[in-house]
Amino acid sequence: MFERFGALVNEPMSEHTTLRLGGPADYLVFPRSAEEIAALFAEADAHHLPVTVIGHGSNLLVLDGGIRGLVICIGKNMRKIVRTGNIISAQAGAMLGSVAAEAAEAGLSGLEFASGIPGTVGGGVTMNAGAYDGEIAQTVIAVNGLYPDGKQVTLSREEMKFGYRRSAVTEKNLIVTEAMFELREGKPAEIRARMSELNARRAEKQPLDVPSAGSTFKRPEGYYAAALIDQCGLKGYSVGGAMVSMKHAGFLVNTGSSSRDFLELMKKVQQIVEERVGVKLEPEIRIIGEES
Ligand SMILES: Cc1cc2nc3c(=O)[nH]c(=O)nc-3n(C[C@H](O)[C@H](O)[C@H](O)COP(=O)(O)OP(=O)(O)OC[C@H]3O[C@@H](n4cnc5c(N)ncnc54)[C@H](O)[C@@H]3O)c2cc1C
Repeated sequence: MFERFGALVNEPMSEHTTLRLGGPADYLVFPRSAEEIAALFAEADAHHLPVTVIGHGSNLLVLDGGIRGLVICIGKNMRKIVRTGNIISAQAGAMLGSVAAEAAEAGLSGLEFASGIPGTVGGGVTMNAGAYDGEIAQTVIAVNGLYPDGKQVTLSREEMKFGYRRSAVTEKNLIVTEAMFELREGKPAEIRARMSELNARRAEKQPLDVPSAGSTFKRPEGYYAAALIDQCGLKGYSVGGAMVSMKHAGFLVNTGSSSRDFLELMKKVQQIVEERVGVKLEPEIRIIGEES
């Protein structure tokens, strides 16, 4: 099954997530086009197999039992970026950093905030990724995608219903294949300087040398998750090899753990923060797959 798409069989998801955690996917495929994605859904449907779509795996905790059925990774084979005037169209597998670099090169401003977010355009649109007062929703004007039945669509920014770290992708069961960004003219040197400044701030504050999925929890209304976790004295707190980063309490990191440990650490942190400061932390990362 899926051989003609070059599927990897029993592929460890720890190889395809920035947390470096997760058991095997039954089948993992890197499609080259929207048409190929439609064909993959049709074949999975014919065999009654579930389908999971991922990008760079930088916002995912895949559980130790892995993922049944087909995993479609929209990444390395769908990375085309095209500029027309002040509009950049990028395929869903393009990395946000590459799109931001292309924009800077062309003297287009608006994506500086995204240059250090280690995810794809598809993942960024799905999560409405954001940082330093910027978010994907500010520049996206349209999104191309398809539904599991193969029907292709173009959705406007309004139809994407962007909110804090969410969009209509999940509720509509949309597969993003391309996004169009409308940017402003600017000076390449200034755009590059802003990107360097933001990336330096990231490197100073975030544990970029240890596997993580970025901020584990969403920002609760009126608070910062990292500040609350720190206030509870949880920096360095660990379950097995899963640990609250000493550098940034909002990052839970993998220092040689299982997904089970990581999940347990998340629960403990949520429990302690709720008990001590009365705030319920909600996961920002998406948890998928089966427990072993
Ligand atoms: C060190 C580090 C720093 C980070 N900093 C930030 C930050 O500053 N701001 C921020 O917002 N995030 C940050 N993140 C989290 C992450 O990079 C973003 O959420 C990113 O947008 C996820 O993109 P991805 O391609 O990795 O998506 P994945 O993690 O692969 O998937 C995330 C979700 O999107 C869905 N998805 C992915 N691609 C598609 C597609 N083509 N069609 C439909 N659904 C799709 C998946 O099903 C899943 O639900 C950080 C992560 C790390 C590791």
